[in-house]
Amino acid sequence: MSGKNDAAKTGKIAVWWDMKDCPVPEGIDDHRVRPSIEGAFKEQGYSGPVSITAYGDQKQTPEHVLRALSSTGVAVVHIGSESTCAVMYLDMVKWREDNPPPATMMIITNQMLDVFNWDLARLQQRTSYNIFLAYSIRPVAALFVYTRKEWLWEKLLHGTTSTSVDTAGELSTVFHCEFCSLDCQSVKSFKKHLSTKKHAIEEVLNPQPTQLISVTKRWGKNYAATPEYATAKIHVSWDMSECPIPDGYDARRVRPSLEGAFKELGYSGPVSITAFGDHKQTPERHLHALSSTGIDVAHALPEFIYSRMFDDLKQWRDNNPTPTTMMIISDGAEILLGGSLARLKQLKKYNLFWAYSFRPWKMSVMLTSAEWLWDSLLAVSETKRHVLRKCSGSSESVVESTGMFYCKMCFSKRKRLDKFVKHLSSKKHISEVSILSLSLSLCDQYIFV
Ligand SMILES: [Zn+2]
Ligand SMILES: [Zn+2]
Repeated sequence: MSGKNDAAKTGKIAVWWDMKDCPVPEGIDDHRVRPSIEGAFKEQGYSGPVSITAYGDQKQTPEHVLRALSSTGVAVVHIGSESTCAVMYLDMVKWREDNPPPATMMIITNQMLDVFNWDLARLQQRTSYNIFLAYSIRPVAALFVYTRKEWLWEKLLHGTTSTSVDTAGELSTVFHCEFCSLDCQSVKSFKKHLSTKKHAIEEVLNPQPTQLISVTKRWGKNYAATPEYATAKIHVSWDMSECPIPDGYDARRVRPSLEGAFKELGYSGPVSITAFGDHKQTPERHLHALSSTGIDVAHALPEFIYSRMFDDLKQWRDNNPTPTTMMIISDGAEILLGGSLARLKQLKKYNLFWAYSFRPWKMSVMLTSAEWLWDSLLAVSETKRHVLRKCSGSSESVVESTGMFYCKMCFSKRKRLDKFVKHLSSKKHISEVSILSLSLSLCDQYIFV
Protein backbone atom coordinates (compact mmCIF):
# COMPACT_ATOMS: atom_id res chain seq x y z
CA MET A 1 0.00 0.00 0.00
CA SER A 2 2.70 2.46 0.98
CA GLY A 3 4.70 1.36 -2.06
CA LYS A 4 1.78 2.33 -4.25
CA ASN A 5 1.54 5.63 -2.46
CA ASP A 6 5.27 6.29 -2.86
CA ALA A 7 4.98 5.62 -6.57
CA ALA A 8 2.08 8.08 -6.76
CA LYS A 9 4.18 10.71 -5.04
CA THR A 10 6.79 10.63 -7.74
CA GLY A 11 4.33 9.83 -10.55
CA LYS A 12 2.90 12.21 -13.11
CA ILE A 13 0.71 15.12 -12.05
CA ALA A 14 -1.72 16.50 -14.62
CA VAL A 15 -3.55 19.76 -13.98
CA TRP A 16 -6.72 20.99 -15.74
CA TRP A 17 -7.39 24.64 -15.07
CA ASP A 18 -10.60 26.53 -15.85
CA MET A 19 -9.28 30.07 -16.26
CA LYS A 20 -12.72 31.66 -16.19
CA ASP A 21 -13.78 30.11 -12.88
CA CYS A 22 -10.39 30.58 -11.34
CA PRO A 23 -8.57 33.48 -12.95
CA VAL A 24 -5.26 34.75 -11.64
CA PRO A 25 -6.37 37.54 -9.29
CA GLU A 26 -5.17 41.04 -9.88
CA GLY A 27 -1.85 41.76 -8.29
CA ILE A 28 -0.54 38.23 -8.76
CA ASP A 29 2.06 37.65 -11.42
CA ASP A 30 0.90 35.08 -13.98
CA HIS A 31 4.36 33.58 -13.91
CA ARG A 32 3.51 32.30 -10.42
CA VAL A 33 0.89 29.79 -11.53
CA ARG A 34 3.19 26.88 -12.25
CA PRO A 35 5.63 27.41 -9.33
CA SER A 36 2.70 27.87 -6.94
CA ILE A 37 1.09 24.62 -8.04
CA GLU A 38 4.40 22.80 -7.84
CA GLY A 39 5.08 24.34 -4.43
CA ALA A 40 1.68 23.22 -3.14
CA PHE A 41 2.32 19.68 -4.34
CA LYS A 42 5.81 19.64 -2.84
CA GLU A 43 4.28 20.55 0.50
CA GLN A 44 2.08 17.46 0.19
CA GLY A 45 5.11 15.33 -0.66
CA TYR A 46 4.40 15.05 -4.38
CA SER A 47 7.37 15.67 -6.61
CA GLY A 48 6.43 14.13 -9.97
CA PRO A 49 6.52 16.05 -13.26
CA VAL A 50 3.62 18.50 -13.54
CA SER A 51 1.76 19.25 -16.75
CA ILE A 52 -0.71 22.13 -16.69
CA THR A 53 -3.35 22.97 -19.27
CA ALA A 54 -5.28 26.22 -19.06
CA TYR A 55 -8.76 26.30 -20.65
CA GLY A 56 -10.63 29.43 -21.58
CA ASP A 57 -11.77 31.85 -24.23
CA GLN A 58 -8.27 32.97 -25.12
CA LYS A 59 -9.52 35.75 -27.37
CA GLN A 60 -10.22 37.53 -24.08
CA THR A 61 -6.86 36.73 -22.54
CA PRO A 62 -4.25 39.51 -22.83
CA GLU A 63 -1.10 38.63 -24.70
CA HIS A 64 1.18 39.23 -21.74
CA VAL A 65 -0.77 36.65 -19.74
CA LEU A 66 -0.50 34.06 -22.51
CA ARG A 67 3.19 34.82 -22.75
CA ALA A 68 3.70 34.42 -19.02
CA LEU A 69 1.89 31.10 -19.01
CA SER A 70 3.62 29.64 -22.02
CA SER A 71 7.03 30.76 -20.82
CA THR A 72 6.45 28.74 -17.64
CA GLY A 73 5.33 25.67 -19.54
CA VAL A 74 1.57 26.03 -19.11
CA ALA A 75 -0.28 24.75 -22.16
CA VAL A 76 -3.14 26.97 -23.30
CA VAL A 77 -6.39 25.79 -24.91
CA HIS A 78 -8.90 28.05 -26.62
CA ILE A 79 -12.48 26.99 -26.04
CA GLY A 80 -15.81 28.73 -25.59
CA SER A 81 -16.52 29.20 -21.91
CA GLU A 82 -19.81 27.23 -22.16
CA SER A 83 -17.80 24.19 -23.32
CA THR A 84 -14.89 24.41 -20.90
CA CYS A 85 -16.07 21.71 -18.47
CA ALA A 86 -17.10 19.26 -21.19
CA VAL A 87 -13.81 19.63 -23.07
CA MET A 88 -11.72 19.50 -19.89
CA TYR A 89 -13.49 16.28 -18.95
CA LEU A 90 -12.94 14.69 -22.37
CA ASP A 91 -9.26 15.53 -22.00
CA MET A 92 -9.16 14.09 -18.48
CA VAL A 93 -10.76 10.85 -19.62
CA LYS A 94 -8.32 10.58 -22.50
CA TRP A 95 -5.41 11.27 -20.16
CA ARG A 96 -6.60 8.55 -17.77
CA GLU A 97 -6.66 6.07 -20.64
CA ASP A 98 -3.09 6.96 -21.56
CA ASN A 99 -1.72 7.18 -18.02
CA PRO A 100 -2.56 4.29 -15.74
CA PRO A 101 -2.31 4.91 -11.99
CA PRO A 102 -0.47 5.60 -9.80
CA ALA A 103 -0.72 9.16 -11.00
CA THR A 104 -2.24 12.39 -9.80
CA MET A 105 -4.96 14.64 -11.19
CA MET A 106 -5.61 18.21 -10.15
CA ILE A 107 -8.69 20.09 -11.24
CA ILE A 108 -8.98 23.84 -10.83
CA THR A 109 -12.67 24.64 -11.15
CA ASN A 110 -15.77 25.77 -9.30
CA GLN A 111 -17.86 23.14 -11.07
CA MET A 112 -16.73 20.01 -9.26
CA LEU A 113 -19.99 19.64 -7.37
CA ASP A 114 -22.38 20.57 -10.16
CA VAL A 115 -20.67 19.08 -13.19
CA PHE A 116 -17.85 16.58 -12.61
CA ASN A 117 -18.86 15.02 -9.30
CA TRP A 118 -21.11 12.12 -10.28
CA ASP A 119 -19.28 10.72 -13.27
CA LEU A 120 -15.79 11.32 -11.93
CA ALA A 121 -16.71 9.64 -8.63
CA ARG A 122 -17.87 6.58 -10.55
CA LEU A 123 -14.75 6.57 -12.74
CA GLN A 124 -12.64 6.79 -9.61
CA GLN A 125 -14.39 3.80 -8.09
CA ARG A 126 -13.15 1.64 -10.93
CA THR A 127 -9.69 3.18 -11.39
CA SER A 128 -8.45 5.37 -8.63
CA TYR A 129 -6.09 8.32 -9.09
CA ASN A 130 -5.05 10.78 -6.42
CA ILE A 131 -7.33 13.76 -6.90
CA PHE A 132 -6.58 17.31 -5.84
CA LEU A 133 -8.93 20.22 -6.21
CA ALA A 134 -8.63 23.99 -6.23
CA TYR A 135 -11.50 26.47 -6.44
CA SER A 136 -12.25 30.11 -5.97
CA ILE A 137 -15.65 29.24 -4.49
CA ARG A 138 -15.90 26.36 -2.05
CA PRO A 139 -18.46 23.65 -3.03
CA VAL A 140 -21.64 24.09 -1.01
CA ALA A 141 -22.09 20.38 -0.29
CA ALA A 142 -19.92 17.34 0.33
CA LEU A 143 -18.45 15.80 -2.80
CA PHE A 144 -18.80 12.19 -3.92
CA VAL A 145 -15.30 12.51 -5.36
CA TYR A 146 -12.72 11.68 -2.75
CA THR A 147 -10.05 14.38 -2.84
CA ARG A 148 -6.64 14.21 -1.18
CA LYS A 149 -6.55 17.94 -0.63
CA GLU A 150 -8.52 21.00 -1.58
CA TRP A 151 -7.15 24.50 -1.93
CA LEU A 152 -8.57 27.95 -2.30
CA TRP A 153 -7.10 29.07 -5.61
CA GLU A 154 -6.02 32.51 -4.43
CA LYS A 155 -4.43 31.09 -1.30
CA LEU A 156 -2.56 28.53 -3.34
CA LEU A 157 -1.20 31.29 -5.59
CA HIS A 158 0.01 33.16 -2.53
CA GLY A 159 1.64 30.06 -1.08
CA THR A 160 5.08 28.55 -1.38
CA THR A 161 6.54 28.30 -4.80
CA SER A 162 8.84 25.72 -6.22
CA THR A 163 10.60 25.72 -9.54
CA SER A 164 11.46 22.66 -11.49
CA VAL A 165 14.26 23.08 -13.95
CA ASP A 166 13.22 20.91 -16.79
CA THR A 167 9.50 21.42 -17.37
CA ALA A 168 9.32 24.73 -19.17
CA GLY A 169 11.53 23.76 -22.04
CA GLU A 170 9.90 20.40 -22.59
CA LEU A 171 6.61 21.44 -24.09
CA SER A 172 6.86 21.97 -27.78
CA THR A 173 3.25 22.83 -28.51
CA VAL A 174 1.79 25.22 -26.03
CA PHE A 175 -1.22 26.76 -27.74
CA HIS A 176 -4.16 24.76 -28.98
CA CYS A 177 -7.37 25.82 -30.71
CA GLU A 178 -10.04 23.28 -29.84
CA PHE A 179 -12.41 24.37 -32.63
CA CYS A 180 -9.84 23.97 -35.39
CA SER A 181 -7.78 21.20 -33.72
CA LEU A 182 -4.80 23.38 -34.40
CA ASP A 183 -1.56 23.83 -32.48
CA CYS A 184 0.41 27.07 -32.53
CA GLN A 185 3.97 27.58 -31.33
CA SER A 186 3.91 31.23 -30.35
CA VAL A 187 1.59 33.77 -28.75
CA LYS A 188 1.75 35.79 -31.90
CA SER A 189 0.68 33.04 -34.29
CA PHE A 190 -1.99 31.88 -31.82
CA LYS A 191 -3.53 35.32 -31.42
CA LYS A 192 -3.34 35.79 -35.16
CA HIS A 193 -5.10 32.49 -35.75
CA LEU A 194 -7.92 33.37 -33.33
CA SER A 195 -8.63 36.53 -35.30
CA THR A 196 -8.82 34.85 -38.70
CA LYS A 197 -12.04 34.38 -40.64
CA LYS A 198 -11.24 30.69 -41.00
CA HIS A 199 -11.25 30.29 -37.22
CA ALA A 200 -14.45 32.33 -36.84
CA ILE A 201 -16.17 30.00 -39.30
CA GLU A 202 -14.95 26.93 -37.41
CA GLU A 203 -16.35 28.32 -34.16
CA VAL A 204 -19.74 28.34 -35.83
CA LEU A 205 -19.48 25.15 -37.85
CA ASN A 206 -17.74 23.04 -35.26
CA PRO A 207 -19.45 23.70 -31.93
CA GLN A 208 -17.95 21.90 -28.95
CA PRO A 209 -20.06 19.94 -26.45
CA THR A 210 -21.59 22.02 -23.71
CA GLN A 211 -22.78 19.14 -21.53
CA LEU A 212 -20.47 16.76 -19.77
CA ILE A 213 -20.44 13.45 -21.62
CA SER A 214 -20.80 10.68 -19.07
CA VAL A 215 -18.33 7.86 -19.43
CA THR A 216 -19.79 5.56 -16.82
CA LYS A 217 -23.52 5.68 -17.58
CA ARG A 218 -23.34 2.88 -20.10
CA TRP A 219 -21.07 0.66 -18.11
CA GLY A 220 -22.43 -2.84 -17.92
CA LYS A 221 -23.69 -4.50 -14.80
CA ASN A 222 -23.55 -8.01 -13.45
CA TYR A 223 -20.30 -8.87 -15.09
CA ALA A 224 -18.31 -11.94 -14.16
CA ALA A 225 -16.11 -11.88 -11.08
CA THR A 226 -12.50 -10.89 -11.61
CA PRO A 227 -9.97 -13.40 -10.18
CA GLU A 228 -9.17 -11.34 -7.10
CA TYR A 229 -12.83 -11.24 -6.05
CA ALA A 230 -13.85 -14.73 -7.15
CA THR A 231 -13.13 -16.34 -3.80
CA ALA A 232 -13.13 -13.21 -1.62
CA LYS A 233 -15.50 -12.86 1.32
CA ILE A 234 -18.97 -11.40 0.73
CA HIS A 235 -20.97 -9.60 3.39
CA VAL A 236 -24.65 -8.85 2.91
CA SER A 237 -26.56 -6.21 4.88
CA TRP A 238 -30.25 -6.85 4.30
CA ASP A 239 -33.10 -4.50 5.14
CA MET A 240 -36.05 -6.84 5.59
CA SER A 241 -38.51 -3.99 6.05
CA GLU A 242 -38.00 -2.86 2.45
CA CYS A 243 -37.12 -6.18 0.88
CA PRO A 244 -39.22 -8.66 2.87
CA ILE A 245 -39.59 -12.39 2.53
CA PRO A 246 -42.55 -12.78 0.15
CA ASP A 247 -45.70 -14.56 1.33
CA GLY A 248 -45.38 -18.27 0.92
CA TYR A 249 -41.63 -18.12 0.38
CA ASP A 250 -39.52 -20.50 2.42
CA ALA A 251 -37.02 -18.32 4.29
CA ARG A 252 -34.51 -21.16 4.21
CA ARG A 253 -34.14 -20.48 0.50
CA VAL A 254 -32.81 -16.93 0.96
CA ARG A 255 -29.19 -17.88 1.54
CA PRO A 256 -28.97 -20.52 -1.22
CA SER A 257 -30.68 -18.14 -3.65
CA LEU A 258 -28.18 -15.38 -2.90
CA GLU A 259 -25.27 -17.80 -3.10
CA GLY A 260 -26.68 -19.19 -6.35
CA ALA A 261 -26.90 -15.69 -7.85
CA PHE A 262 -23.33 -14.94 -6.76
CA LYS A 263 -22.14 -18.23 -8.21
CA GLU A 264 -23.75 -17.42 -11.54
CA LEU A 265 -21.35 -14.48 -11.75
CA GLY A 266 -18.40 -16.52 -10.56
CA TYR A 267 -18.32 -15.47 -6.89
CA SER A 268 -17.83 -18.41 -4.59
CA GLY A 269 -16.32 -16.82 -1.48
CA PRO A 270 -17.84 -17.29 1.98
CA VAL A 271 -21.05 -15.30 2.44
CA SER A 272 -22.17 -13.69 5.68
CA ILE A 273 -25.63 -12.17 5.88
CA THR A 274 -27.27 -9.94 8.46
CA ALA A 275 -31.03 -9.53 8.25
CA PHE A 276 -32.20 -6.23 9.76
CA GLY A 277 -35.80 -5.64 10.65
CA ASP A 278 -38.35 -5.02 13.34
CA HIS A 279 -38.27 -8.64 14.36
CA LYS A 280 -41.12 -8.29 16.79
CA GLN A 281 -43.15 -8.31 13.58
CA THR A 282 -41.27 -11.15 11.86
CA PRO A 283 -42.88 -14.58 12.19
CA GLU A 284 -40.83 -16.87 14.41
CA ARG A 285 -40.71 -19.52 11.71
CA HIS A 286 -38.86 -17.03 9.48
CA LEU A 287 -36.44 -16.12 12.23
CA HIS A 288 -35.78 -19.76 12.87
CA ALA A 289 -35.36 -20.52 9.19
CA LEU A 290 -32.94 -17.64 8.66
CA SER A 291 -30.80 -18.53 11.62
CA SER A 292 -30.77 -22.21 10.71
CA THR A 293 -29.20 -21.25 7.38
CA GLY A 294 -26.51 -19.19 9.03
CA ILE A 295 -28.12 -15.77 8.60
CA ASP A 296 -27.66 -13.38 11.49
CA VAL A 297 -30.86 -11.78 12.64
CA ALA A 298 -30.65 -8.18 13.83
CA HIS A 299 -33.54 -6.37 15.47
CA ALA A 300 -33.89 -2.65 14.89
CA LEU A 301 -36.91 -0.39 14.66
CA PRO A 302 -37.48 0.93 11.11
CA GLU A 303 -36.15 4.41 11.89
CA PHE A 304 -32.90 2.87 13.12
CA ILE A 305 -32.33 0.32 10.39
CA TYR A 306 -30.19 2.41 8.01
CA SER A 307 -27.86 3.58 10.74
CA ARG A 308 -27.49 0.02 12.08
CA MET A 309 -26.83 -1.28 8.57
CA PHE A 310 -24.22 1.41 8.18
CA ASP A 311 -22.53 0.39 11.45
CA ASP A 312 -22.68 -3.24 10.36
CA LEU A 313 -20.97 -2.55 7.03
CA LYS A 314 -18.43 -0.27 8.63
CA GLN A 315 -17.53 -2.79 11.28
CA TRP A 316 -17.30 -5.59 8.77
CA ARG A 317 -15.17 -3.46 6.46
CA ASP A 318 -12.77 -2.69 9.33
CA ASN A 319 -12.43 -6.36 10.23
CA ASN A 320 -11.96 -7.67 6.71
CA PRO A 321 -9.13 -6.40 4.56
CA THR A 322 -9.84 -5.90 0.86
CA PRO A 323 -10.46 -7.28 -1.67
CA THR A 324 -13.94 -8.12 -0.43
CA THR A 325 -17.50 -7.69 -1.59
CA MET A 326 -20.20 -5.85 0.34
CA MET A 327 -23.85 -5.96 -0.59
CA ILE A 328 -26.83 -3.91 0.46
CA ILE A 329 -30.35 -5.20 0.05
CA SER A 330 -32.47 -2.10 0.45
CA ASP A 331 -34.31 0.55 -1.50
CA GLY A 332 -33.68 3.56 0.67
CA ALA A 333 -30.30 2.87 2.26
CA GLU A 334 -28.56 3.94 -0.94
CA ILE A 335 -29.83 7.49 -0.51
CA LEU A 336 -28.14 7.76 2.86
CA LEU A 337 -25.18 5.43 2.42
CA GLY A 338 -24.56 5.59 -1.33
CA GLY A 339 -22.28 8.62 -1.31
CA SER A 340 -20.33 7.28 1.61
CA LEU A 341 -19.91 3.82 0.07
CA ALA A 342 -18.84 5.48 -3.17
CA ARG A 343 -16.18 7.50 -1.37
CA LEU A 344 -14.97 4.44 0.49
CA LYS A 345 -14.70 2.56 -2.77
CA GLN A 346 -12.37 5.24 -4.12
CA LEU A 347 -10.03 4.66 -1.20
CA LYS A 348 -10.21 0.94 -0.59
CA LYS A 349 -10.65 -1.81 -3.07
CA TYR A 350 -13.91 -3.57 -2.61
CA ASN A 351 -16.78 -4.77 -4.73
CA LEU A 352 -20.35 -3.66 -4.28
CA PHE A 353 -23.58 -5.54 -4.95
CA TRP A 354 -27.06 -4.09 -4.60
CA ALA A 355 -30.53 -5.57 -4.57
CA TYR A 356 -33.75 -3.55 -4.40
CA SER A 357 -37.47 -4.21 -4.52
CA PHE A 358 -37.95 -1.75 -7.38
CA ARG A 359 -35.55 -0.38 -9.93
CA PRO A 360 -34.19 3.03 -8.85
CA TRP A 361 -35.37 5.94 -10.97
CA LYS A 362 -31.87 7.25 -11.34
CA MET A 363 -28.47 5.63 -11.47
CA SER A 364 -26.64 5.60 -8.18
CA VAL A 365 -23.26 7.18 -7.63
CA MET A 366 -22.23 3.84 -6.12
CA LEU A 367 -20.48 1.83 -8.75
CA THR A 368 -21.86 -1.67 -8.40
CA SER A 369 -20.59 -4.87 -9.94
CA ALA A 370 -24.01 -6.46 -9.81
CA GLU A 371 -27.60 -5.40 -9.17
CA TRP A 372 -30.71 -7.46 -8.84
CA LEU A 373 -34.41 -7.03 -8.33
CA TRP A 374 -35.13 -8.62 -4.98
CA ASP A 375 -37.90 -10.86 -6.29
CA SER A 376 -35.83 -12.19 -9.16
CA LEU A 377 -32.88 -12.72 -6.85
CA LEU A 378 -35.02 -14.87 -4.58
CA ALA A 379 -36.10 -16.86 -7.61
CA VAL A 380 -32.55 -17.95 -8.40
CA SER A 381 -32.44 -21.70 -8.08
CA GLU A 382 -30.46 -23.10 -5.24
CA THR A 383 -27.01 -24.31 -6.04
CA LYS A 384 -25.73 -25.30 -2.67
CA ARG A 385 -27.13 -26.34 0.63
CA HIS A 386 -25.91 -24.47 3.62
CA VAL A 387 -23.98 -26.76 5.85
CA LEU A 388 -23.82 -25.86 9.46
CA ARG A 389 -20.17 -25.83 10.25
CA LYS A 390 -19.15 -26.92 13.66
CA CYS A 391 -17.88 -24.20 15.91
CA SER A 392 -14.15 -24.44 15.60
CA GLY A 393 -13.20 -21.97 18.25
CA SER A 394 -12.79 -18.75 16.33
CA SER A 395 -15.61 -16.34 16.97
CA GLU A 396 -15.86 -15.52 13.28
CA SER A 397 -16.74 -19.01 12.22
CA VAL A 398 -19.45 -19.11 14.86
CA VAL A 399 -21.03 -15.96 13.47
CA GLU A 400 -20.77 -17.23 9.92
CA SER A 401 -22.30 -20.57 10.51
CA THR A 402 -24.84 -20.39 13.28
CA GLY A 403 -26.86 -17.25 12.72
CA MET A 404 -26.94 -15.21 15.89
CA PHE A 405 -29.81 -13.09 17.15
CA TYR A 406 -28.82 -9.50 17.77
CA CYS A 407 -30.77 -6.74 19.39
CA LYS A 408 -29.36 -3.64 17.74
CA MET A 409 -31.36 -1.43 20.07
CA CYS A 410 -29.76 -2.75 23.26
CA PHE A 411 -26.62 -4.03 21.54
CA SER A 412 -26.98 -7.47 22.99
CA LYS A 413 -27.01 -10.88 21.39
CA ARG A 414 -28.56 -14.27 21.95
CA LYS A 415 -27.74 -17.66 20.55
CA ARG A 416 -31.24 -19.06 20.90
CA LEU A 417 -34.42 -17.86 19.29
CA ASP A 418 -36.58 -18.34 22.39
CA LYS A 419 -34.20 -16.22 24.46
CA PHE A 420 -34.20 -13.56 21.75
CA VAL A 421 -37.99 -13.44 21.55
CA LYS A 422 -38.14 -13.21 25.32
CA HIS A 423 -35.64 -10.38 25.27
CA LEU A 424 -37.69 -8.38 22.76
CA SER A 425 -40.63 -8.37 25.15
CA SER A 426 -38.58 -7.80 28.28
CA LYS A 427 -38.90 -4.67 30.39
CA LYS A 428 -35.21 -3.96 29.92
CA HIS A 429 -35.55 -3.95 26.16
CA ILE A 430 -38.71 -1.89 26.14
CA SER A 431 -37.22 0.78 28.36
CA GLU A 432 -34.03 0.86 26.26
CA VAL A 433 -36.10 1.35 23.11
CA SER A 434 -38.13 4.16 24.62
CA ILE A 435 -34.96 5.98 25.67
CA LEU A 436 -33.43 5.52 22.22
CA SER A 437 -36.57 6.63 20.45
CA LEU A 438 -36.66 9.78 22.53
CA SER A 439 -33.06 10.55 21.75
CA LEU A 440 -33.37 9.73 18.06
CA SER A 441 -31.84 12.73 16.46
CA LEU A 442 -30.17 13.71 13.28
CA CYS A 443 -26.75 13.30 14.82
CA ASP A 444 -26.13 10.10 12.88
CA GLN A 445 -23.36 10.69 10.41
CA TYR A 446 -23.21 8.29 7.53
CA ILE A 447 -19.59 8.85 6.77
CA PHE A 448 -17.08 6.08 6.18
CA VAL A 449 -14.23 8.31 5.17
ZN1 LIG B 1 -9.24 28.00 -34.41
ZN1 LIG C 1 -33.10 -5.15 23.04
